[in-house]
Amino acid sequence: MFKSVLVANRGEIACRVFRTAKRMGIRAIAVYSEADAKALHVREADEAVLIGPAAARESYLVADKVLAAAKATGAEAIHPGYGFLSENAEFAEAVMAAGIIWIGAPPASIRAMGLKDAAKKLMVAAGVPVTPGYMGEDQNPDRLKSEADAIGYPVLIKAVAGGGGKGMRRVETSDAFLDALASCQREAASSFGDDRVLIEKYILSPRHIEVQVFGDSNGEVVHLYERDCSLQRRHQKVIEEAPAPGMDAATRAAVTDAAVKAAKAVNYVGAGTIEFIADASEGLRADRIWFMEMNTRLQVEHPVTESITGVDLVEWQFRAAAGEPVPLKQADIPMNGWAMEARLYAEDPANGFLPSIGKLEHFRLPDDIRVDTGVFQGGEVSQFYDPMIAKLIVHETSREAAAARLADACAEVEVWPVKTNAAFLVKCLEHPRFVEGDVDTGFIGAEEEALVASSLSKFGLEGAARALREHGVVADGNDHWAPWDTWNGPQGFRLNGPSESRQTIVVHGEAHSVAMTPDDYPPATYRPLTAHNGVWFEDGLAFEISAFKQMGAGGGSASDGSLRAPMPGKIVAVSAAVGDAVAKGQPIVVLEAMKMEHALVAPFDGKVSGVGAAVGDQVAADAVLAVVEAG
Ligand code: ADP
Ligand code: ADP
Ligand code: MG
Repeated sequence: MFKSVLVANRGEIACRVFRTAKRMGIRAIAVYSEADAKALHVREADEAVLIGPAAARESYLVADKVLAAAKATGAEAIHPGYGFLSENAEFAEAVMAAGIIWIGAPPASIRAMGLKDAAKKLMVAAGVPVTPGYMGEDQNPDRLKSEADAIGYPVLIKAVAGGGGKGMRRVETSDAFLDALASCQREAASSFGDDRVLIEKYILSPRHIEVQVFGDSNGEVVHLYERDCSLQRRHQKVIEEAPAPGMDAATRAAVTDAAVKAAKAVNYVGAGTIEFIADASEGLRADRIWFMEMNTRLQVEHPVTESITGVDLVEWQFRAAAGEPVPLKQADIPMNGWAMEARLYAEDPANGFLPSIGKLEHFRLPDDIRVDTGVFQGGEVSQFYDPMIAKLIVHETSREAAAARLADACAEVEVWPVKTNAAFLVKCLEHPRFVEGDVDTGFIGAEEEALVASSLSKFGLEGAARALREHGVVADGNDHWAPWDTWNGPQGFRLNGPSESRQTIVVHGEAHSVAMTPDDYPPATYRPLTAHNGVWFEDGLAFEISAFKQMGAGGGSASDGSLRAPMPGKIVAVSAAVGDAVAKGQPIVVLEAMKMEHALVAPFDGKVSGVGAAVGDQVAADAVLAVVEAG
């Protein structure tokens, strides 16, 4: 076995490979970009080499820089992780030409499977069922259209060089074909430098079933059962599991046999995945599963397979690269229980799933399950790389137990102020259709609104009160978090204390805020609060809880009932609407100015007769923000 390995990657997968390397006594060498100087994978490595600027095409994707780092550190082997250079046959060849062990697929296998059309032709020849469609050389648009017409709609246009869910267009009708083709070709040309496409029948009720395969240099190939990755958003996997729900013995035998056959057809060595698409309109059936593509690398979702088999796939990769045979015979590979993985992304579901970047001021994941992550509290999620920040993996005796445990784990995620999809994952995992195993790749698309929206409306005054009462955390501004109970610092004050220190609490949700005063709840429920902002977490969501001095009469509320901005600022909450009855002292609008928040409260009991501001508005000093009429 080699004694050192360089991982040509970053993030969670680099950390994952290092873990096995360390366990096996192998020196772990990292490469990193300028943006990653303080990244977790650099911290966890025994040695690290700077290879260039933040942009991946100037660092992680530059084969020569990675090779130079390997030579400079005397690395005996290179593991490419996934993405980046992992399926780059020229890089694999250059590594081997430099006398370094390549812990990846043989270059010839990568090439054979690299283009989807060529791979499918090869599979047809090997007797593997492939998705019906056109995979010819002729790329004339009219020819492609007539092929699509013959296949029958809907069809899927796919870039032959595509990957990562990009370069695909679903087309519903013949009329829409040519426009969709042109747009797919443009995306393919710009993303992959190759505008050729193939056309597939769009499988209805599609489920994504894939088989983990493993080969050695003696030509032995085994499989490690299947994974179901049907829970996808825009062709990107979100939740994966093993085994696949509803998989019977006959179907499993058919799909795993086909996978082993496919891997053997390209003389595969190491870890690889054969992806299939299944028409699950009548459940999984052996005659309704077709080869889609092969990924010639370790897959993001490999931990679910590791969980049910007890195999460390990275260790197996090391052994295969070192020339050792597959460690277990097919019949000796166990399959136990049910494993499920959720991908935690730094993104904002409430805002179209836009990536969310910035410093991870607070970052806490459950510690009683497997967590593969590449970030840490105090670290940074940068704009330069994939927004996936962690994978949460559970292993239970049944699917039901796995889904429930993973939902709990996602609900425990605490990340601030970077936004994540944790609450969205909880909703997916708790959805009755998911719990029943009745999910195809269209599930999220069909349910998206509910999966996103329902997580936002949960919160209200009740929640805010509970936040303070039960789950409260205080931040002292220095990464220290503690329950209210144990906090006793000098800046604390009783919310139900003397009137000059009476506070209103404002809770910012992802799309709204609520304000409350101690009058809203019995004094006994309050605990000390710092003058700094605190954040409360529930069900994967994060809410900011801030305390501020209540503006009394004359400090923003005129006796005529109009609430005027005391200074220029931004509206962060509007908690009453025209027509609402309000009580004296009730906050109506909250203004943020000079990093402080100011509540404008009803000067007397009455009714709101006008609201002149909305959340997000910038307002000038003295602007009338709301009007209350006595009565
Ligand atoms: P998996 O099936 O393991 O999720 P994906 O195909 O989604 O694999 O890709 C794994 C990783 O590699 C992801 O981080 C993805 O963003 C990246 N990736 C794969 N193919 C490409 C590509 N063609 N361009 C950019 N990133 C890619
Ligand atoms: P990539 O290289 O981007 O991973 P794939 O060919 O693996 O591309 O397809 C990605 C996803 O698109 C699949 O997981 C599946 O959800 C969907 N998909 C692919 N082919 C079909 C098809 N013929 N019918 C329906 N859905 C498909
Ligand atoms: Mg794929």
